[in-house]
Amino acid sequence: SKTPVGFIGLGNMGNPMAKNLLKHGYPVIAYDVFPNICKEFQDTGAQIMESPADVADKADRIITMLPSIPNAEEVYTGPNGILKLVKKGSLLIDSSTIGPAVSKELAKECEKMGAVFMDAPVSGGVGAARAGNLTFMVGGVEQEFAAAKELLTCMGSNVVYCGEVGTGQAAKVCNNMLLAITMIGTAEAMNLGIRLGLDPKLLAQILNMSSGRCWSSDTYNPVPGVMEGVPSANNYQGGFGTTLMTKDLGLAQYSATDTKTPIPLGSLSHQIYRMMCAKGYAKKDFSSVFQFLREEENL
Ligand code: NAD
Repeated sequence: SKTPVGFIGLGNMGNPMAKNLLKHGYPVIAYDVFPNICKEFQDTGAQIMESPADVADKADRIITMLPSIPNAEEVYTGPNGILKLVKKGSLLIDSSTIGPAVSKELAKECEKMGAVFMDAPVSGGVGAARAGNLTFMVGGVEQEFAAAKELLTCMGSNVVYCGEVGTGQAAKVCNNMLLAITMIGTAEAMNLGIRLGLDPKLLAQILNMSSGRCWSSDTYNPVPGVMEGVPSANNYQGGFGTTLMTKDLGLAQYSATDTKTPIPLGSLSHQIYRMMCAKGYAKKDFSSVFQFLREEENL
């Protein structure tokens, strides 16, 4: 039988990801900082621990799926963090989006304790997390990639080795910057079309057979009523929070500053998402930029 896998962070993404590990026959040893989330998850048959350190005591392969940098630092290096009780030779895979710089720092701390850290951020959203067809972008020591891949293929259909530690994060930050830009663009185009008298469903169909087609238009359309099973069909609940997208654009901005790279549209997108956070959209899915544009125009 398979040895247990630790899973820390059972939110929108972590919950369905950990369930897919269970489905593939891996016993899961889990922790989340919110007791309610743990309680809900206990029904799946997973064993719930009291802290990340306790998870590390029971499992020598751990996946973390946390919101952002402070949470990841707490879970790895905090007083009750993984590194407090980590076993030598453990494989620690972080799938949170936290950017290359902090990933590299965490990898150094893990190495000091004799553990291997890999960054493996994901793309695909909650639907792909449920379906088990996420894309994983993996950075770290190449000899450990096969061991990481064994677990990640339970949750994703594409597991791509990117290079040394931090390169998975680099790929992810670039992807999400582009995603933010296409989501705002799709919302703008859809809104303009509606104001010109087009039926939004028809316009989406036309975009999706034309050169404007993108994931934001054909898989995650931001306009309510165009598609089913997406956050826009559910008052922008669930999905990928506006705060998280704002965080990712901040990581892109930091990386761009660090490498002296111009990202004019990335920067503008960052500011648009910042305004949304300040105006009550923080907890809604990031496709609510459509609603934000509609409200702005009525002022
Ligand atoms: P989420 O906020 O829904 O879930 C994060 C979970 O981590 C929560 O349950 C929270 O309680 C838990 N947590 C926070 N601090 C903790 C701590 N110190 N110890 C233990 N648990 C802690 O976020 P999410 O949507 O699942 O996203 C997780 C990561 O994946 C983020 O970095 C996000 O940018 C990235 N991501 C999200 C999506 C998406 O569509 N939601 C897609 C790709 C990548």
